Amino acid sequence: MITRMSHLFLRTLRDDPADAEVASHKLLVRAGYVRRIAPGVYSWLPLGLRVLRQVERVVREEMNAIGGQEISLPALLPRDPYETTNRWTEYGDGLFRLQDRKGADYLLGPTHEEMFALTVKGEYNSYKDFPVTLYQIQTKYRDEERPRAGILRGREFVMKDSYSFDLTDEGLAESYRAHRDAYERIFARLGVKYVIVSATSGAMGGSASEEFLAESDAGEDTYVRCLESGYAANVEAVETLAPEPVPFDGLPEAVVHDTPDTPTIDTLVEWANGALDRPVTAADTLKNILVKTRRPGGEWELLGIGIPGDREVDDKRLGASLEPAEYELLTDADFAANPFLVKGYIGPKALLDNGVRYLVDPRVGNGTSWITGADEPGRHVVGLVAGRDFTPDGTIEAAEVRDGDPSPDGAGPLVSARGIEIGHVFQLGRKYTDAFAVDVLGENGKPVRPTMGSYGVGVSRLVAVIAEQQHDDKGLRWPAEVAPFGVHLVIANKDEAAREGAENLAAELDKAGVEVLLDDRKASPGVKFKDSELLGVPLVVVVGRGWADGKVELRDRFSGESREVPADAALKEILGA
Ligand code: ATP
Ligand code: MG
Repeated sequence: MITRMSHLFLRTLRDDPADAEVASHKLLVRAGYVRRIAPGVYSWLPLGLRVLRQVERVVREEMNAIGGQEISLPALLPRDPYETTNRWTEYGDGLFRLQDRKGADYLLGPTHEEMFALTVKGEYNSYKDFPVTLYQIQTKYRDEERPRAGILRGREFVMKDSYSFDLTDEGLAESYRAHRDAYERIFARLGVKYVIVSATSGAMGGSASEEFLAESDAGEDTYVRCLESGYAANVEAVETLAPEPVPFDGLPEAVVHDTPDTPTIDTLVEWANGALDRPVTAADTLKNILVKTRRPGGEWELLGIGIPGDREVDDKRLGASLEPAEYELLTDADFAANPFLVKGYIGPKALLDNGVRYLVDPRVGNGTSWITGADEPGRHVVGLVAGRDFTPDGTIEAAEVRDGDPSPDGAGPLVSARGIEIGHVFQLGRKYTDAFAVDVLGENGKPVRPTMGSYGVGVSRLVAVIAEQQHDDKGLRWPAEVAPFGVHLVIANKDEAAREGAENLAAELDKAGVEVLLDDRKASPGVKFKDSELLGVPLVVVVGRGWADGKVELRDRFSGESREVPADAALKEILGA
């Protein structure tokens, strides 16, 4: 079909929308792809919907290629299943909740693990039915705290979510690998530059969860990478390279010093450089931070964390390390209730003597020597050696990761970068099949419980991500695979013969299966060219002044290059382009 701009439901805007900060948001609104309805809620206009459908098509093709079967579950869901898994509560304010006329609770689905587990339970009952992978491309709802950047972080958005069901751990690993490979193909076809980062540290077992992050300064996810080895990880997942243990022999005894008015690392370092006969930096000090933690259903308990004084605690890393326990900072009342905690002068000794769990940064390895609090006001101890003078209860990844820190694989320094999460693959295990007692008859006649994987792709988000990575200062620039049209044919010549020639060329392209956008409006060539740049169809064909000499112009939106070709060879040139 030929789409005529004279009839196309499209208004391009000259100015950026006032609420837009990132380029993709500005351009998708200006180019008439999407329109805002409410915070994080957008309409798709014809051009935007075409790109969205293209992304969907690529995702669907690759999901089908790994044997995924498409189904579609409702977005409007009853409370009960989400109550069973406790996500009705856990999701907190992130969940859109509503009631029907009878007062029954419903929610708008943020993700569908519960429903897929129940769906499989409803249909399948024998080991012979497995493995199976089901997916949907469906609208999700999350009441995001900060909807942002247009469709990049919406409250209503389109996700491809799939779920694999296997009877064995090896089977799950295979399904996971198949999805991971499919995602690599999807993002390659979409022309997205991305990295795969491990989402959790070793605790959950290597590759149990990985995220695909599109490289973009507009992203909200910070990750680190090692350019030498290609290692990439979420900051939460970075494991600190611990130093080799240092032998104790020859290390001087620990000595307590009077260090009046040194409650901060800065004041302590200043004191040390005056009092000790060696240069001291904050990295030579051991800073002890107190928090209280609580396991689900448990009591609050104190936790001491020792990290080198030149580093701050990274809240996200600390939170991820403590999960599923939560933590809070101590209040004045907590300090008052534990008088052995001398603010500004806390050392390992008082913590360990008083039964406070004490975890240290992996850099505080055996044989490392520290300047740290002596648990009395105005006093510090110098030369306190880990493993000799105190033995922590273990290590914790809580300190910030900095540019230049060594990569965990030892290959070189880490540098930080920003990204946008476009996909997530996750070996869930039996959490949901346990919750719903999904059992099937095993080969030996005994029941077996399937193990699940869950895998998401941000389909609508990808439209913004591609726009973000591919635009230039003139407008959008779609890769052919997702472009709303194959060719944007611009009539830039008022001559009747030229118009007729353009119409014929459009008809021939259409016949050859090319989606054509024909700019047949009564507007100036300047306006049309500007719009063609803004809309971002990869190939722009201009029937303009050259028509009289039997020439049309081909403009490559990506390279910016243009060339004239004979009008009678135009079709062949375009199809070959
Ligand atoms: P994020 O950290 O960006 O909030 P998430 O960890 O909540 O993502 P998942 O629950 O794993 O994401 O959802 C799968 C995919 O859905 C994500 O990788 C992302 O591409 C997409 N997605 C998640 N939330 C949104 C949103 N608010 N708007 C658009 N796409 C989203
Ligand atoms: Mg989220």
